[in-house]
Amino acid sequence: MFSTLRLTYMTLSILCMLAVTAAADTRKDIQFPDIPGFKTIICDFHTHTVFSDGYVWPTVRMDEAWREGIDAIAVTDHIEYQPHSDYVSTDHNASYEVATPAAQRKKIMLIKGTEITRGTPPGHFNAVFIKDVNPIDTPDFMDAVEAAVEQGGFVFWNHPGWKGSEVGRWREVHQTLYDKEWLGGVEVLNGTTYYPQAHEWCLDKGLAMLGNSDFHRPSMHKRTETGDHRALTLVFVKKFTQDGIKSALNAARTAAWDQHRIIGREEHLAPLFKASVQVFAPHHVDENSLWVEMKNNSHLTYQLRRTGDLGPETITLEANATIIVQLESDGQNRKKTLEYTAENVLIAPNKGLPVTLIVPRKR
Ligand SMILES: [Zn+2]
Ligand SMILES: [Zn+2]
Repeated sequence: MFSTLRLTYMTLSILCMLAVTAAADTRKDIQFPDIPGFKTIICDFHTHTVFSDGYVWPTVRMDEAWREGIDAIAVTDHIEYQPHSDYVSTDHNASYEVATPAAQRKKIMLIKGTEITRGTPPGHFNAVFIKDVNPIDTPDFMDAVEAAVEQGGFVFWNHPGWKGSEVGRWREVHQTLYDKEWLGGVEVLNGTTYYPQAHEWCLDKGLAMLGNSDFHRPSMHKRTETGDHRALTLVFVKKFTQDGIKSALNAARTAAWDQHRIIGREEHLAPLFKASVQVFAPHHVDENSLWVEMKNNSHLTYQLRRTGDLGPETITLEANATIIVQLESDGQNRKKTLEYTAENVLIAPNKGLPVTLIVPRKR
């Protein structure tokens, strides 16, 4: 009797262990190189759970972040919109509290946040790096933003053109927030939607550019592949800590990245491209041509179009891959300078990043 029970217990234990092993998640890292002076980290500052109008339990957001190679994430449930309140707590801090142990287990930096959700204008605003959401639940919009800022929060404007670019214009209220130094950034990318006017404002006003998923449903990405991932923000930090990320946001050291393009400032995207791409000396030279390897060490496929005299009209530098480019030979063994525009690296609306590829001479 005793031994049968014991055997049953052992069998159960083994079955439980197998279940734990089977549930272990694999992370697919997102490859972007660091740039001089700064470490490049991958963040999503805008997600929802069942504690507002999302459809997932907060711990699921941490599992997804781990699998998809995300370093830091904010759960930003709406303050003013809680359609599941008959079934779950209306405490605005609940989603953060539920997510915290899962974030620790999955080594995800969880940033405390909320979405201040008003009509347009002013629109929707995320406050991140806050301490307590409840004081931000105030009838007056300016009071809500002030309460977030008083807690050391960083406030940014979400999806400014979601009700149409005319409705999402820069109004007096936005100027007031900006003048008070309460507004730190704008989403230039929300999901798959790019807001060129927001890109322009960020360039003009020195604001951080954000790219976020705004996920309400479960993420359908089992892992992050090079051309298949949620909208994300690259943050160029001195230190990978909560304060380090906040400082980088305040200094507008960010870029927004979606499936096939990256949106930001030339001062960050030029060194990022340079750190991503290696051009080798020709490995073969024949009568008419040089054969050159080019390697892209990043998760973004770069689309290049020639602006100079040398090189093919277009070059596609596949993400995390090496290609061979054929160049016309001029019969001279010297370094060659190829001038291109990276068309999907946007340094302003409709403006790609100018890049130079230097082919060293053959040794
Ligand atoms: Zn919103
Ligand atoms: Zn939202």
